[in-house]
Amino acid sequence: MQTPGTLHVVATPIGNLADLSPRALDTLRTVDAICAEDTRHTRQLLAHFGVEKPLIALHQHNEDAQAGQLVARLREGQSLALVSDAGTPLVSDPGFRLVRAAREAGLRVSPVPGPCAAIAALSVAGIASDRFVFEGFLPAKAGARRERLSQLAAETRTLIFYESAHRIEETLADFAAAFGPQRPLVLARELTKLFETVLDGPVERVREVVGADANQRRGEFVLIVEGAGEDADARIAEGRRLYARLCEYLKPSQAAKLAAELSGAPRKALYGGE
Ligand code: SAM
Repeated sequence: MQTPGTLHVVATPIGNLADLSPRALDTLRTVDAICAEDTRHTRQLLAHFGVEKPLIALHQHNEDAQAGQLVARLREGQSLALVSDAGTPLVSDPGFRLVRAAREAGLRVSPVPGPCAAIAALSVAGIASDRFVFEGFLPAKAGARRERLSQLAAETRTLIFYESAHRIEETLADFAAAFGPQRPLVLARELTKLFETVLDGPVERVREVVGADANQRRGEFVLIVEGAGEDADARIAEGRRLYARLCEYLKPSQAAKLAAELSGAPRKALYGGE
């Protein structure tokens, strides 16, 4: 009987091509074919390293349909690599369905670990890293995004988000409203690339820097938010007290903004006494 092949899940660089590991390169050189999120993108990466291999497109629109055929190839003894456009496959990238199908078929799935933007950002953030929650991309629609953030406002573990250039300002504004303007934040931009920048400070301060400089809004971002501290409840109590007083003189929206700024409590936590 034919010995089944292995599915190698291979991490690729998130910017700096020198971050492709020797074992990753060796694996890409020796497999029968490479499953890639965007075959043109991966062809460029392979060309840089002088590798020529058959490429199979595997993206969110065809993954279910492709998984069965790929499992059949593995069963026939072919070895396959799975890569995404950048970083570790399956981390806000395709691959989950294929990996699950391969495991369900009893096939060997083996990692070739390497770059991951979330972990790279966490490693330089200086924010507690012993317990963290990876949230990936927030919902694109403003209402759903704010709802998700309000569910996370009391989370005590470190929070990690991915964000793109075109929504970074809106997301920082939503962070200020949900987590409060004083919550510590690290913004890691263009990691391992020419314009790598790591900004840290209270949400409001990072927001000001990004708002004032268009260059700080370019590229790819990881946002790391400190978890809600032990004193979060005290800040919310103080914020509600201020909000109630300020409502005697200001419109509720103005009162909430000011009370949030003064207390450091998330604006959303001030309404309704919930
Ligand atoms: N699989 C990838 C990983 O392991 O990090 C993530 C893929 S996800 C589609 C792309 C997002 O990752 C970007 O929008 C950005 O939030 C983050 N990202 C990727 N490369 C980055 C970099 N060099 N610097 C900062 N963030 C990056």
